[in-house]
Amino acid sequence: MSAPRRTCLGCRRTDDKARLVRLVWNRAACCVVVDNTQTAPGRGAYVHVDCAPRGVRGVARALRRQVDGTQVAALLNGIYDVVRSTPGESTASPLRVAASASLRS
Ligand SMILES: [Zn+2]
Repeated sequence: MSAPRRTCLGCRRTDDKARLVRLVWNRAACCVVVDNTQTAPGRGAYVHVDCAPRGVRGVARALRRQVDGTQVAALLNGIYDVVRSTPGESTASPLRVAASASLRS
């Protein structure tokens, strides 16, 4: 069995789901959030950590809803910053990065 594969919003390449950060619409908070568990219900958008800043415009399309571009950009840049601010961890697990990013928001 092969691992589930998803398309990255930033580079449009497919990769193993486990290597991508999953973004979902949080109805209660009315904003896009990182899905730490990759199991939250609803439509998800996937992006590589390194591609996060380039995926901003694809999020609305992937989630099929209007999103606050400023909020999404802040979220995605936050994901990217976690990696940049942690030397030697450019290959950090997306889930670990996701956890760090959501702690900030
Ligand atoms: Zn990518």
